[in-house]
Amino acid sequence: MVKQEKQREKKWLLVKFGGTSVGSAHAIQQACQIIQTQHDQWGGMIVVISAMSGVTNHLIECPRAAIHHDTDLYSKIINGLQEQHLNVVKDLLRTSNLDETELFIQHQFQTLQAFCDSVQVIGEITARGMDTICSLGERLNAQIFSAYLQAEGISSKAVDAANLIITDDNHQNARPLMAETCQKCKELLVPLLNDGIIPVVTGFIGSTRQGVITTLGRGGSDYSASIIADCLEVDEVWNCTDVDGVMTADPSIVEDARVIPELAYDEMSEMAYFGAKVLHPKTIQPIIEKDIPLRVINTFNPEQAGTRISS
Ligand code: ADP
Ligand code: ASP
Ligand code: MG
Repeated sequence: MVKQEKQREKKWLLVKFGGTSVGSAHAIQQACQIIQTQHDQWGGMIVVISAMSGVTNHLIECPRAAIHHDTDLYSKIINGLQEQHLNVVKDLLRTSNLDETELFIQHQFQTLQAFCDSVQVIGEITARGMDTICSLGERLNAQIFSAYLQAEGISSKAVDAANLIITDDNHQNARPLMAETCQKCKELLVPLLNDGIIPVVTGFIGSTRQGVITTLGRGGSDYSASIIADCLEVDEVWNCTDVDGVMTADPSIVEDARVIPELAYDEMSEMAYFGAKVLHPKTIQPIIEKDIPLRVINTFNPEQAGTRISS
């Protein structure tokens, strides 16, 4: 594992925010605060973002209800999700970007309603169709987060990872094709970074070579982050979540769980593999070869050191 000397003078940081970290207007403000604090310290920053917490589960319920001809249920879920997202943008974007973002959200939910109506008629949902539906939460949130950064005076652009992460066609658990993915990441993200623009990339999503949307498996935004980190050879990855770091046990179950300050890649892989939900089990593998350190920190308590995972 030889750390190669990079040509770049300035360091790049990739920051991934999980569902709770971007699950409300308040959370998005906290997350944005981290970006604002770090902005001047790095030569380039990339954000990878999840759907708001709970949204992917609700999206999955929609076609299931449609199969059972429960129009009321899926329409109610769709209306509820639309309202939730519109309320967040109303709280965040008082003037600039508001109309544009609202229209984007409304259009996406109209499409989802039409999609579920057709699932109801056909009476089935394919894994491919499910991926199109599941990807909506991340696509909405990347637009919202990017619009908010812009409103705060930070140059930013929402980027759909369907244009970056090229995968096989194993829908719902797709595997990235790394050579093609890295080529796309370099083509699309490096010019933004060189222009001082923060790409806000959808986690969880990819697409096949034919451009059909895929997803990387539940909780896969962590994996998206490390795939992009590997391709761009970033200097550090920060995984911002809702706990103070990787702990000795799941703190929602074990009250006196403690933060582990340092972990080796293989130790973290093993913990994730055996069920420590804090990181997706595939997160570590892409960053090992280039020896990219990964920090797990709490979006709501970022002054804590969290956990540093490295060789
Ligand atoms: P995110 O949405 O940020 O990706 P997740 O909900 O996927 O966050 O993962 C964070 C959750 O993982 C924590 O809230 C915690 O309950 C759970 N968890 C399970 N095992 C651990 C562990 N060993 N250390 C820390 N958190 C853990
Ligand atoms: N939103 C996706 C999920 O709930 C991916 C993620 O949050 O990492 O599984
Ligand atoms: Mg997660």
